[in-house]
Amino acid sequence: LSFILFKNISCLVTNSGLPSSGGVRPKEEQLGIISNGAIALRRVRGSTKILWSGPQKELPRDFRSSRFKTISGRGFTAYPGLVDCHTHPVFMGDRALEFELRMKGASYQEIAEAGGGILRTMRATRKASLSSLTKILEERLSVTRKFGVALMEGKSGYGLDGPSEIRSLQALRKAQSEIELVPTSMAAHALPPEFRGKKNEYLSWICEDHIPLVSKKKLAEYVDVFCDNGFFSVDETLAIVKAGKKWGLRARIHGEELSLTGIAALSREWSFDSVDHLLKVDQRGIEALAETGTVATLLPATGFYLREPPAPARALIDGGAVVALATDFNPGTSPTQNLPFVGTLAAIQLGMTTAEIIAAITWNGARSLRRETRFGTLLPGFEGAPVLVPGDHPNALFYPLAAPGGRSL
Ligand SMILES: [Zn+2]
Repeated sequence: LSFILFKNISCLVTNSGLPSSGGVRPKEEQLGIISNGAIALRRVRGSTKILWSGPQKELPRDFRSSRFKTISGRGFTAYPGLVDCHTHPVFMGDRALEFELRMKGASYQEIAEAGGGILRTMRATRKASLSSLTKILEERLSVTRKFGVALMEGKSGYGLDGPSEIRSLQALRKAQSEIELVPTSMAAHALPPEFRGKKNEYLSWICEDHIPLVSKKKLAEYVDVFCDNGFFSVDETLAIVKAGKKWGLRARIHGEELSLTGIAALSREWSFDSVDHLLKVDQRGIEALAETGTVATLLPATGFYLREPPAPARALIDGGAVVALATDFNPGTSPTQNLPFVGTLAAIQLGMTTAEIIAAITWNGARSLRRETRFGTLLPGFEGAPVLVPGDHPNALFYPLAAPGGRSL
């Protein structure tokens, strides 16, 4: 147990106004920015609780005591611990070769059809034991931590059979890290080769065998489906969402990325917590997301690696959708754990403002994971170690191209 006081923080971004706005059209005043601020916090075995934040001159006497280890924040900007609400961190091997092929012009679908893509990673992941999956995941989490992330979603989906999908989820449960992990079962990431031509059989296995087992073992909070041309259709996606619902798992969806399927518009009937990618989303989809509060999670690092045109972030935000940003960390299409860099891309390629970006990598991401009362602000009672970076402007986190290290407790 320890108590820490950051004092004289040049620029303190508390996000104090985000919860009351619901994360819709974030404006600078909702960031609750304080110049010369302070944060008092308590740490117990790697977990952090915010006790107080506000102007230095209003710091209550209780937090001035010698119990508190005091750290100067002069010359720094402080933020709530970041939230990465879409990652695929459980895999073995890499796909460096494919990166080269893609740069020569091969498409995602062409690579998948040639036996590369997700299936290449699947072969390596199936061979891995639970302890080696857990170990590599812990190494990756320590990198993510250095980028300031306090809460992270992580998906299975490189096993694509019972034992290795279960092992992937167990690794997410077992990994020791300061980051709070939210596990998602994504057996519907791709069709494994042994089910080629027998997709219905794979779907019934997911819905009737796998999801019930995941639920009974309490290995995941969510199901996710790659809903797109050449992957899983809208009807197939909804069958999985329905099975998840029956077994107490909520849904987040990979949707409207390679083609417009209409899945985002179905958030009205199906109450997904998040629809992610959205490069091809149409007006109907935007309206449905805005009406239902289903979070629109944008993944610009993926578009950057795939040289795809950006998602319509402005139309989504101006249309009233709650927008989050995440890394989509995976070995194929977004081999980065650098969430601040995603903020840089959002400014340059998506035309998002500083307030919109900060909301998107903190409170809005937490909202998509149903942890918005615990993560994403520095209000008393919230969790997650704050991030401090050099600078005295709210964009200090993503205006320089981020390097890991020295960013958080
Ligand atoms: Zn993804």
